[in-house]
Amino acid sequence: MDDLWYSEYDTPNVRFSIKVNAQLHSEQSDYQKIAVYDSPEFGRFLTLDGVLMLTERDEFIYHEMITHVPMAVGPDTKRVLLIGGGDGGAARELGKYPDIERIDVVEIDQRVVAVCKQYLPRTACGFDNPKVRLHFNDGLRFVRSAEEEYDLIIVDSTDPSGPGEVLFTKEFYGNCLKALRRNGIMVNQHESPFYGEDAKAMKAAHKRIVSVFPLARVYQAHIPTYPSGQWLFGFASKGPHPLKDLDAARWNALGIPTRYYNTNLHRGSFYLANYIEEALSENE
Ligand code: SAM
Repeated sequence: MDDLWYSEYDTPNVRFSIKVNAQLHSEQSDYQKIAVYDSPEFGRFLTLDGVLMLTERDEFIYHEMITHVPMAVGPDTKRVLLIGGGDGGAARELGKYPDIERIDVVEIDQRVVAVCKQYLPRTACGFDNPKVRLHFNDGLRFVRSAEEEYDLIIVDSTDPSGPGEVLFTKEFYGNCLKALRRNGIMVNQHESPFYGEDAKAMKAAHKRIVSVFPLARVYQAHIPTYPSGQWLFGFASKGPHPLKDLDAARWNALGIPTRYYNTNLHRGSFYLANYIEEALSENE
């Protein structure tokens, strides 16, 4: 039998493919096509509308970087709003902090949560935490009614197309600013600087965040299964600076187990290549 491959077009001229043992699941939810595959190299992986979301082998990188960077800066984070995150990975990492009192997860598609609970227990275990309150709702609509309620907002969304599009708007970022307490932090998956479409989305998101938040920085991580392998995150806040206010000693004293994040890498991740700084400064 011929080999089976999952392929994703990063551009019309560049294709990323993973050899697949089998497709384990496929369905059309009210919002998107949800599929799970099993692969020899990356283990199981989830795709939404044909776009790779996470693999068992490298999801730790993304989920550690989208949570531990802000948690190492905001010392008194008690209430977290996690928008998207239907796979549970970010909730799993937040569950490592005993001082967090509540994690509101706002995921628009309950079928994503159900499929991840069935096929991806290593990330979906994040929902087992009693501090997690799962809301099946549109993140834009949910955050409209929040006022100075959260210390940290994490936007763990799909790309700015389909249901995720509204999570890259100025209105959404303005609502997040309003929903944050004093010294609040917002972190978002901020696309990528290399390929055209991703870089366009990165610049557009950065321009809107800069126009709303008093402080907005960008940091990076190497994620093998994401387009070009280089992925960015946005760090915006009402006050805290991601480097000046990093309390490495306090974070290290927590003894939180990680495989990618550490407080030296935290610092390094905010130093970006010239071409990325130039692209970001176009909109500052
Ligand atoms: N954590 C994974 C990663 O490594 O990138 C993927 C993120 S998670 C699977 C993205 C989630 O955002 C999806 O489950 C999707 O249903 C959800 N989502 C998209 N638009 C949304 C919206 N407007 N409100 C809430 N959740 C949304």
